[in-house]
Amino acid sequence: MSLAIAERAASGTLFQTLDIGHPVYAALTDPQTAFWALVDKSCAAEAARDPALLASYGAKAGAFADELHALRFGLKPSGVYLNPTERCNLNCTYCYLPDQQRSGGSHMSAETLLASLASLRDYFRSVMPEGRKPRAIFHGAEPLMNAPAVFAAIDAFADDFVFGLQTNGTLLDDAALDFLTSRNVSIGLSLDGPVAEITDATRQTWGGKSVHGKVLRAIEKLRGYGSWSVITTCTTENLPYLTRMVELFHAAEVPTCMLNTLRCTLPGARGVKPADEAMAEAFFAALDRTHALYQATGRKLMVANFANILIGILAPTARRLMCDISPCGGGRAFFALAADGSLYPCSEFIGLPRFNGGKLLEEGVAVALASEAFRPVIERDVDRFSPCGDCAIRHFCGSPCPAEAFEMNGGMDKIGAFCAFYKEQVNYALRLIADGKADDYLWDGWDEGTETVFALA
Ligand code: SF4
Ligand code: SF4
Repeated sequence: MSLAIAERAASGTLFQTLDIGHPVYAALTDPQTAFWALVDKSCAAEAARDPALLASYGAKAGAFADELHALRFGLKPSGVYLNPTERCNLNCTYCYLPDQQRSGGSHMSAETLLASLASLRDYFRSVMPEGRKPRAIFHGAEPLMNAPAVFAAIDAFADDFVFGLQTNGTLLDDAALDFLTSRNVSIGLSLDGPVAEITDATRQTWGGKSVHGKVLRAIEKLRGYGSWSVITTCTTENLPYLTRMVELFHAAEVPTCMLNTLRCTLPGARGVKPADEAMAEAFFAALDRTHALYQATGRKLMVANFANILIGILAPTARRLMCDISPCGGGRAFFALAADGSLYPCSEFIGLPRFNGGKLLEEGVAVALASEAFRPVIERDVDRFSPCGDCAIRHFCGSPCPAEAFEMNGGMDKIGAFCAFYKEQVNYALRLIADGKADDYLWDGWDEGTETVFALA
């Protein structure tokens, strides 16, 4: 056992005890390394001093700390979010992009998009292992508003990137669907309600028209496609309907959905922010429903944002999304290209000019990553500010989102919008692990390529 671990064990500061709301189990965690163990809650204090646990953990703690450090500080970018236009045909209540850009902004020209992808390809080749392709996700406002440029780019760089496209789904006509599916582009849609009245409460055209039916049509067309998902952004308007949302998705054979807490970066979103307790109650009811549907049919509906929390607990380096680690993935695992050619740590920052790291085709990626604009995001460290620095689950939560913390709560050293919900989410995940149900909420084969490095009966 290392001296530091032995000292912390002797002083009683090694493990924190977490009441996860389970009838039998509590969790012991060492937040510094994201280590956890489930113990009988009636003797958690004794378990924290158990010589067998201390010896086993002490032998591995250094390796756990190194692994977590590499994940938090040693990654190189392997993805980019591409915003090929500032414009969107919808005016969603909670959008993180300013209204003026979405209603009257510019498209990126096809030439600039192609030149940008050539520059990005060269950058990724310089930092990624040979044979691995970076991910390039068209995103932001509505990428299909500038479909000709997007499609030209996908064809021109098919060998260099793994492409995805996040769309509001309203412009996905048959030709667009044929183009994207024939090139195996992963497609993400957005739908906020099980019926039009609920979707319309937060997602409508600028003229106030419903888009619910169009998204349902796209969902129906994508049934059976290999790589697609649907995002529901959870707000006060749809919270009572989350269970019906997952029923709709499961019936439509949506393979993966996300039930995202909305980001409160811009004021519009804050008006429809659910209370944390209500968010937790509705979210867990929806997760419970996905489990019941899985048991009844044998078919899983993955809730990817929650699966990522489970993976972050079970196999920290296997996580796929990068909002629940600190520093988050913004400016570290990926970055975003805005339609005016500027680089930002994440699309979430595109409405905030102080986080503009310079132009891709003038200064380049390396300059942006090292810029003063990116630095506060890349260096936002959950260990270093209150209350997160003392939080038992800080490396399962990550204190998202820096853009939200900065704009809503006044600084990078502040929490974001859903701290209490995040705590309950980790408790729920640990309860599933305690009950042996975690695999039911994860994609099949999630643990292929992972290795058990610690097990104590
Ligand atoms: S936490 Fe926010 S800034 Fe970081 S990756 Fe997630 S959305 Fe982007
Ligand atoms: S936001 Fe809340 S739950 Fe997350 S690390 Fe900070 S204190 Fe913990």
